[in-house]
Amino acid sequence: MSCREITKLVTLGQLPAVEVVSSVLERISQVEGMVHAFISIVKGEALKRAKEVDKKVKEGKEVGKLAGVPVAIKDNICTSGIRTTCGSHILENYIPPYNATAIDRLLREDAIIIGKTNMDEFAMGSTTENSYFGPTRNPWDLNKVPGGSSGGSAASVSAGEAVLALGSDTGGSVRCPASFCSVVGLKPTYGLVSRYGLISYANSLEQIGPIAKDVYDCALLLSVINGYDPKDSTSIREERTEYISSLEQTAEGMKIGVFQEFFGKGVDVNVSDIVHKSLKRLESIGTSLVDVSLSKLSYSLPAYYIIAMSEASSNLARYDGVRYGFHSEKEAENWKTYYSDTRQKGFGAEVRRRIILGTYALSAGYFNEYYVKALQLRTLIKREFEKAFEMCDVIVSPTMPVLPFDIGEKIDDPISLYLCDIHTVPANLTGMPSISIPCGFSNGLPVGLQFTAPLFREDLILKLGQAFEDSCEISNPSSNL
Ligand code: GLN
Repeated sequence: MSCREITKLVTLGQLPAVEVVSSVLERISQVEGMVHAFISIVKGEALKRAKEVDKKVKEGKEVGKLAGVPVAIKDNICTSGIRTTCGSHILENYIPPYNATAIDRLLREDAIIIGKTNMDEFAMGSTTENSYFGPTRNPWDLNKVPGGSSGGSAASVSAGEAVLALGSDTGGSVRCPASFCSVVGLKPTYGLVSRYGLISYANSLEQIGPIAKDVYDCALLLSVINGYDPKDSTSIREERTEYISSLEQTAEGMKIGVFQEFFGKGVDVNVSDIVHKSLKRLESIGTSLVDVSLSKLSYSLPAYYIIAMSEASSNLARYDGVRYGFHSEKEAENWKTYYSDTRQKGFGAEVRRRIILGTYALSAGYFNEYYVKALQLRTLIKREFEKAFEMCDVIVSPTMPVLPFDIGEKIDDPISLYLCDIHTVPANLTGMPSISIPCGFSNGLPVGLQFTAPLFREDLILKLGQAFEDSCEISNPSSNL
C-alpha cells in the first residue's frame, strides 16, 4: 500500500497502525536476510508508537499527515535514543541525545520510524558497498548494487520493508539508488530542508531528501520535512511549502531542456534507449523538447570531488577518539600517534582516501590551484544552468549513465565509480532541486529519469513527474522479491 492509502485508512480507524507496522516487520523478517537494507531495526519502539497512534484515533483526537506510516531513516540522520552509525566503525555505538529536525517533523505527523538504513560510510560512495556493516543488495537482482550512498533507504522502500524513507544527497545519493531500485527520490533545493542533525560529509552540497514508491508520496514527505529551521544557519527563511496541490496542475505546455552533453559518450546504450523513449513520452503528454547546452559538464565531476573532499577533510576532523565514538585501545606515546591509530582503525579505505585528498587540496600552496578553482567552476556551471533555464522550465537527463552493476565489480576502481555521478552532481553544485523517477527496465534492471528545475521550483519537477508517472504502466513498481 502507498503512504496515501495507509494514512487515509488509519485516520478513519479502518486500519490499525499496529497492523501496518506488524505487516512491514513481517516483510522485513522475510526479505531482510537477502537485501540487508538496515543497520538497526527498532521493532519494539515502532510497535509502541503505532499503539499510541491507534489510541489517538480511538479517542477521536486529530492525527498527523503520516499517521501510522513506517519510515526508514538513513543512518547519518540523528535519531534520539536510536544508534546512528553513519555506516562507520568510528560511530558504531553512537546514540544521539537529540533528533534531527527532519525527524522531529516526521514524528509530529505521527510517522513511525521502523529502522536505520545501511549506507556508504559517511555517505561517500555510489553503491552502499563502503559500509562497515557490509553491502546492501538490489531487490531487483540480488547480485547487483542498489546504488548509493542511500542504498539501504531505497532498497527498503523497493523491497516493501518500509513505505517511505529519508536519504541524504551530496552528489546524487538519493537519486542514484532511487534510479537503481526503481523508486522515486528527490534532492531538494539547498536550504529548503534543515540539515540540523544530518551528520556532515560535505555541508555546502548536501540535503536530506525523500524516497517513496510514487511521486505523490514523495511530494507528501517533502511537504512534511521542508521549511525554516532556526537551528540550521543555511536554512532558508521561508514558511513550509505544501507540494500536493502542484501535482494536480497540468504539465501540458512545459518546455523541457535536453542537454545533448548528458547523452554523450559514457552513457550505456541500454540506458539511452529507454531515456529516448521517455523523451517521446514526454512529448506525447503535451510538453515540448528544447536543445540546451552545458559546455562545462565535464568539469562538474572534478569540481564536485575537490569541494566534497575538502569539506569532508574538515568535517571529519572531529572524530579524534576523544569526544565520542570508537577510540584506539593501543598504548600511544603521544597524542599524534593516538589520533592516527584511532582514525586508521575507525575509518574505512574510501573515507581515508578522501580525507587525505581533501587535506591536500586545502593545504597552503595548493589551495588556489584546486579548491579556489573548483569554487570558480561551481559558479560558471551555475551560470550555465541559469542561462539554460531562460529557454526551458525543467531539464531532463538519465539519472545514472549505467545500469545497476554487480556487487564488487567496481569496488577497486574508485575513478570509474566517481564517473557514474556525472549527471547527478550538477544539481548539488548549483543547489537546484532534482528528482529521479522510474522510467523503465532494461534486461530486468531499473532505469531512472532525472528532472532538474531552478531553485525552489520543486513544484515543477513534481508536477512533471506526476504527469510522466500517470502516462506509464510502471507507476508504483514493487520489486519481485
Ligand atoms: N557518489 C557521490 C560521492 O561519493 C555522492 C555521494 C552522496 O551524495 N552522498 O561523493
